Amino acid sequence: MSSELLENLKKRYLTIRNNGLTNVLKIQDETISAIRTFLKKEGFIEILAPIIGPATDPGIRGAKQVTINYYGVPFKLMSSMILYKQMIITSIPKVFALSPNIRLEPLETAKTRRHLTEFRQIDLEVAHATCKEVMELGERMLCHVIDEVKSRCQMELGERLKSLKTPQRPFKRYTYDEAIEILKNKGITIERDGEIPWDAEEALSRAHSEPFWITNYPMTARGFYYMEKEDNPAFLEDFDLIYPEGFGEAISGGQREHRYVKLVERMKKNGENISEYGWYLDMVRMGIPPSAGFGIGVERLTRFICGLENIWDAVPFPKIAGIPSP
Ligand code: AMP
Ligand code: MG
Repeated sequence: MSSELLENLKKRYLTIRNNGLTNVLKIQDETISAIRTFLKKEGFIEILAPIIGPATDPGIRGAKQVTINYYGVPFKLMSSMILYKQMIITSIPKVFALSPNIRLEPLETAKTRRHLTEFRQIDLEVAHATCKEVMELGERMLCHVIDEVKSRCQMELGERLKSLKTPQRPFKRYTYDEAIEILKNKGITIERDGEIPWDAEEALSRAHSEPFWITNYPMTARGFYYMEKEDNPAFLEDFDLIYPEGFGEAISGGQREHRYVKLVERMKKNGENISEYGWYLDMVRMGIPPSAGFGIGVERLTRFICGLENIWDAVPFPKIAGIPSP
């Protein structure tokens, strides 16, 4: 990272006066409003997201969770609210939140141009839904947001207005195996049992001019709460949406495991310390509905819509791995 960029981040009280950022934040404001309006029309209820709790999402690709001392008890800052989404859908069947997440990402993510250590997701969950249904919802939501922002922010979008096209639905779908084959044909060989590495994901994204899905990641790549495929339990009922033009991952989501015995089995396979999940397992033992849902990163969406080189240009107070900025 250049010293100029470091200065930009550490002296944010100066760089925040820049006009470009004002435009970006206006676009971000319209983006969030458009998502809220869309989801409310679809019958969703917005809740206030949790920020701390006894346990949080362990499926965060090598990032570290943050633990605080909560009156003598170790508590986590939310890395995502997945466990709480499974709680709330027992009473609200279509729910979303603008959820803040903290993840101490590995230092090398400072170079991906799409990782923050503090970010927000629009995180939603639908009781009794399938992957297919929430993916279709995600497609409509993204198209709606782009249409709205294009019509409301013509001045702020400037030149980007010309290249920002509303994508064609349905979006292309690849399985994880197909995505790995595409990469192989480009001379990029990756292990078949993990997440797609950041640079490979970017290359795949760069090879597309429209957003596309990757489904059915291997069980070994993801958190315990994703449901295994019935016909092939080594793979999951899950998906990522990838932005085109090198912007990389937009959404992760899938169908959740709701069966107690299966869930405990998965937690053990993933090496989880089961004793940390007291309330969660008590709740699942009592019974929760099956569900599917996803999270879309707000800052990454802003970066994509505005066509920004770096995610930190989409955030008023950016936090990047290893950089103690305001
Ligand atoms: P995940 O559950 O890790 O897939 O996160 C869900 C969504 O949040 C991703 O698809 C991204 O859009 C966004 N996201 C995840 N990690 C980060 C990060 N470190 N910085 C910014 N956005 C992120
Ligand atoms: Mg993901």
